[in-house]
Amino acid sequence: MSILIVGSFMTDLVVRTHKAPQQGETVIGNHFDMFLGGKGANQAISAFRQGSRVHLLGALGDDAFGDNFLNFLNTENFDTSHIERKALPSGVGQIVVNETTGQNQIIIIPGANLGYDSNDLMQKVHLFKEANLIVNQLEMSDEVTILTKQLAKKYGKPYLLNPAPYKILDDEFLNDIDYLTPNESELAGLVGKSLNCLGDYEDAAKSLVDKGVKHVIVTLGGAGALHCNKTGCQLYPSFKVNQVLDTTAAGDTFNGAFAAQIDQGYSIHEAIIFANAAGALSVTKQGAIPSIPTRVDVLKLIEKNK
Ligand code: ADP
Repeated sequence: MSILIVGSFMTDLVVRTHKAPQQGETVIGNHFDMFLGGKGANQAISAFRQGSRVHLLGALGDDAFGDNFLNFLNTENFDTSHIERKALPSGVGQIVVNETTGQNQIIIIPGANLGYDSNDLMQKVHLFKEANLIVNQLEMSDEVTILTKQLAKKYGKPYLLNPAPYKILDDEFLNDIDYLTPNESELAGLVGKSLNCLGDYEDAAKSLVDKGVKHVIVTLGGAGALHCNKTGCQLYPSFKVNQVLDTTAAGDTFNGAFAAQIDQGYSIHEAIIFANAAGALSVTKQGAIPSIPTRVDVLKLIEKNK
């Protein structure tokens, strides 16, 4: 059995500068980095490092960024056979970090991610049939996201939606989602209210359960995760870490690890504890994919905290 993830690939091009350019101005920056990411790829790597068989559906462009991404996945021994190449640019994010003010300017080009369409997905229906769990985020086209959920339901497979980046979701789409995993701000967006305390998060999550979501799991950063379903809510405190270095992809690490545990037959309770531990480890290292821990390290952290 396996997890099927339908999601995005992005290459982040990050320049660090003492001063962001004004209109028409050129400045000499300090540093350049290229990072691989995209919520689909991050969550797929996270689930894979936790020992699950993962099929990732999505598209890279027909360019050097696409080649580079595939090379990386192949060196990780990740199965790349279901990834499409499109005659489009690969998804990139151009990020300018102003080191003086700490502020970012970001331009995202979804590129090939949005070139992946329903026809591509329909070619892979057999993978839905063999999966234990279907996973989506909101970086693909609406057409692909909606069809992914429809196919999951058609083949009786649990459907996990990480509603990131936030988009309005209609009630019909929310109904019959098995696992919905917003962070605090996505939850606030989904219920259209500002949320300030645990009681607010619980009320908001319960209102989504009333709309037909079976399990809402809200990731609360350093406060851990909150699980709500028809029978009530339970808070899972985070694992304490010595130093928070970089929270990039903490949510993706959590989602991939949670999915892996569900795939491997663990209970929701066990899966949330495991995902909390994986998320905690991810914030102790720089970067997105480089910070995603292995199963051995996650189990060690859980053991240490017993
Ligand atoms: P996102 O990246 O989507 O905003 P969160 O910031 O909520 O996601 O983090 C996801 C998960 O990572 C949390 O639920 C928690 O398990 C873990 N985590 C994040 N920040 C910390 C932290 N400072 N200490 C321990 N665990 C953390």
